[in-house]
Amino acid sequence: GLELLEYLKQNGSELPFILITAEGSEALAVRAMRLGVRDYLIKPFNIDDFLNAIQRVLATPQAAVPVVSMSQRLEQLLQNSNAGILSTDLDNHILYLNQTFQDMFELTKSAVGRNLNDLISNPELLEVFDESGQPYLTREIDLNGEHTLSAIFSQMPGVGKLAVMQDITEYKKLDRTRTEFITAISHDLRSPLTTIMGYVELLERTGPLNEVQKKFTDHIIFSVRSITALLSDLLELSKVESGFMTALQPINMTIITRYALETHRSEIDARQQNLVTDIATDTSDVLGNPIRLKQMASNLLQNASKYTPPGGSIRVRVYEDDDFIIFQVEDTGIGIPVEDQARIWEKFYRTEEATAKFPGTGLGLAIVKSIVDAHAGRIWVESVPLQGTTFTVMLPIASDDENHQEDYE
Ligand code: ADP
Repeated sequence: GLELLEYLKQNGSELPFILITAEGSEALAVRAMRLGVRDYLIKPFNIDDFLNAIQRVLATPQAAVPVVSMSQRLEQLLQNSNAGILSTDLDNHILYLNQTFQDMFELTKSAVGRNLNDLISNPELLEVFDESGQPYLTREIDLNGEHTLSAIFSQMPGVGKLAVMQDITEYKKLDRTRTEFITAISHDLRSPLTTIMGYVELLERTGPLNEVQKKFTDHIIFSVRSITALLSDLLELSKVESGFMTALQPINMTIITRYALETHRSEIDARQQNLVTDIATDTSDVLGNPIRLKQMASNLLQNASKYTPPGGSIRVRVYEDDDFIIFQVEDTGIGIPVEDQARIWEKFYRTEEATAKFPGTGLGLAIVKSIVDAHAGRIWVESVPLQGTTFTVMLPIASDDENHQEDYE
């Protein structure tokens, strides 16, 4: 009985228990009470004792006990969380702030009830609290140039706003080191690879190779090309990830798409695929980096061609919808199983079928996703295995001010 009680208590049970035992020691009674037993009967007992015990338990207001302990538990949880938590009412008066948030912004508990704008000078934090209408928003916040916080803001309809923030300074540092490291080794590895490639190509010129030698050199060439492709993709990804987004300018996705199509037309023709384009000509500009946007379009086109058997179709669309430019690549290829669809954006992730039958690094879509994110856009995939895949990219149209930026300069 005691073991069962212990188990239930550990698992958070709030049920009232009456312990019935033939072994009436004081020590047992104390242990049972500690485990939250409400009443305790020693055998033999009469039925009235039993009914009285049940009535006593039922008469105790039980609900109050768990509710108080629940809110206390919740308070403890929030206070001890290593994420900074702040909630305000609709006019930015502070309703709640936990210890971590107080430490982050050098505040005390007395901040409760006061207006956020009077207490905090961090412009990024104030900006998001003042931005109305956004139900959900994530931001990085710079804290005195020393720390970086990753913040998630959400609206609580009718109540106010909530911010949860995590200190990601160490993570950012690590990420920078990783990017620098990858950039360095990608550069360093490329030149010996070029040398290997050069000498392998020279082999053929020094005299005819026999069939076995030719097979071996073909293997070397294939492997060196794969490593070179992997290194270029890694280098590209680290550039995009390290925020190498200089030269943001108003740019038209129609032009970018035409450029990208030109690059891939011969490959699509060679694979005897049917290319259909549906590209609006009078679309508004987006604010972007033309090289990166072309790379994004190019990677999606290349995948569409690679994963579509000869004779299949590829359709490319560009059109304007509300405040967005939509860029879409649709194919009738091998498709992506549903269970893989959420993971294809991860670095090096490839589906089983792709790994078995097609060359690739598994970095193309990671690059695409980083570029779309850097342009405040969205991307998603719809796919049915054996039927085909559609990738859709939404990029926000540049506002009028941004469009005329060049006129003012
Ligand atoms: P890679 O093509 O080099 O493998 P990507 O990051 O571009 O790397 O794509 C990741 C994976 O997503 C691919 O390995 C493939 O399994 C799947 N994929 C991407 N595009 C398509 C497509 N158009 N049709 C089918 N599968 C695709």
